[in-house]
Amino acid sequence: MKLDDKLYLVRFNTDKLNHIKITNGDLCLKCKDKVCTFICPAHVYDWDEEENRIAVGYEGCLECGTCRVACPHGNIKWDYPRGGFGVSWKNG
Ligand code: SF4
Ligand code: SF4
Repeated sequence: MKLDDKLYLVRFNTDKLNHIKITNGDLCLKCKDKVCTFICPAHVYDWDEEENRIAVGYEGCLECGTCRVACPHGNIKWDYPRGGFGVSWKNG
């Protein structure tokens, strides 16, 4: 099954609280590769050209934890969403 098909099986119960925070925006300005913008399977991170910062679409997070270890500067503070919120699977 392709990833896009699997993502169709995902359900979200979005929390109003953002469970992902960029700790230091200045580090992102200096970050050459901006790994977060291509490592995340849900495309949560995007470079905002106008605001010169990483935009975080936390609502689509699949809770895989990859970004937390992939950021070379340890600049992503990531926690699980509060109980009852976040992702679940239709067939599981
Ligand atoms: S990889 Fe880390 S430091 Fe680099 S842009 Fe993303 S959050 Fe910022
Ligand atoms: S935990 Fe996974 S899905 Fe969520 S933002 Fe990080 S890399 Fe993306």
